[in-house]
Amino acid sequence: MKEIYTLKDLQDWPRPQKKSVPPIRLGILGDPVAHSLSPQMQNAGLESCGLKLRYARFEIDSGELPTALDLLRKLDFAGVNLTVPHKIAALEFMDDVDEHARQIGAVNTIKIDDGKLRGFNTDGKGFSRAIREEFSVDLRDLRVLVLGAGGAARAIALQCAKENCERLVIANRTIEKAGDLAKELRDFFAGPKVFGPVPRLQAIPWEESAFRFQIANIDLVVNTTSVGLNRADASPIPARLLAPHLMIYDTIYSSVRTPFVSAALESGARGANGLSMLLHQGALAFEIWFEREAPLDAMRAALL
Ligand code: NDP
Repeated sequence: MKEIYTLKDLQDWPRPQKKSVPPIRLGILGDPVAHSLSPQMQNAGLESCGLKLRYARFEIDSGELPTALDLLRKLDFAGVNLTVPHKIAALEFMDDVDEHARQIGAVNTIKIDDGKLRGFNTDGKGFSRAIREEFSVDLRDLRVLVLGAGGAARAIALQCAKENCERLVIANRTIEKAGDLAKELRDFFAGPKVFGPVPRLQAIPWEESAFRFQIANIDLVVNTTSVGLNRADASPIPARLLAPHLMIYDTIYSSVRTPFVSAALESGARGANGLSMLLHQGALAFEIWFEREAPLDAMRAALL
C-alpha cells in the first residue's frame, strides 16, 4: 500500500492499489494529509474485527474534492473521513446530511450507501467522550472556555450546548466569529440554570485581561485553534494565567506535550492532548460505516 494516494490514482483505480490485500475501500481526504494518524488507527480496528478492507490517505486539494467524491461513489468505497480543508466545503456535495452535521455546518465522516453520499460529523461526540475519559467528568457539569471559532470549535461548542453545560465562553482572535457562534447557540442557554453574576453564554476577545477575568469562573479550557501545531509556538494562554483547578484540553494531538499541555502542567492544572478525541471521533465513524461497536482497545493501542 502506498503512503499517500492522489486524485490521479483514483482516476486510474484499481491499478494503483493492485497490491493491497484486502482492497482499499476507506480513507481520509485532506491537504495536507501526510500527518494523519487515522490510517493506523482504522486499519487496526478493521483487522481486529476481521473486516476485509483497508483505509488509506488521499491527498486531495479543494478544487479536486467534487471529482474525488464522485469517483469514490463509483468505485464502491464504503466511506471516508474529511480533514482540512474539506469539512465545510463537502456539505454541498452530499446527497443527505445528518441533522447534527447540518447544525455544525461541517462534515467529517461520509458513508457511501448504494452510491449515495451521506454526511455526518463525529467531532463533537468524540470530544465529549474524550473529556469523560481524560477527566472523569461530564460536560453538563462544567463551565467551559473554548479557544477558537473555526470548524472544530463549532462542533465542540454545539456539543457543550446540547449537553447543557453550566457555562460556555468562546474566545477568538476574530471576535466577530465568536459572537456569531454564541448567537447561534443562544436558545440552548435560555433555560433556568442560574450561575452567579457571570453570564452563562459569552463571547470574549482574544486578550490577556479577558482570559484573566474568566479563569476563576471556568473549569475546562479547550484549545481548538491551530496555535501549538508548531512545536515552537507559545501556549495559547500563558501558564501564569492558568490555575490548578483547571482542566486543559488541547485538540491538537501529539506524542509529545503540546505547548498548552506543558503550560497546564507548569501551573499545576491537569492537561491532555487531542489523541483521545481523535480516537473517539474515529470510533464513532467506524460505527457509522459498519453499524457495530468499534474495537476501541485495538484502535487505541495503534495510536499509542
Ligand atoms: P479552522 O481553520 O476552522 O479554525 C482555526 C482557528 O484557529 C480559528 O478560530 C482561528 O482564528 C484560530 N487561529 C489560527 N491562528 C491563530 C493565532 N495565531 N492566534 C489565535 N488564533 C488563531 O480549523 P479547525 O477548527 O478545523 O481545526 C483547528 C484545530 O483542531 C487543528 O489544530 C486540529 O488539529 C484540531 N482538531 C483536532 C481533532 C482531533 O480529533 N483531535 C479533530 C478536529 C480538529 P480566526 O477565526 O481569528 O482566524
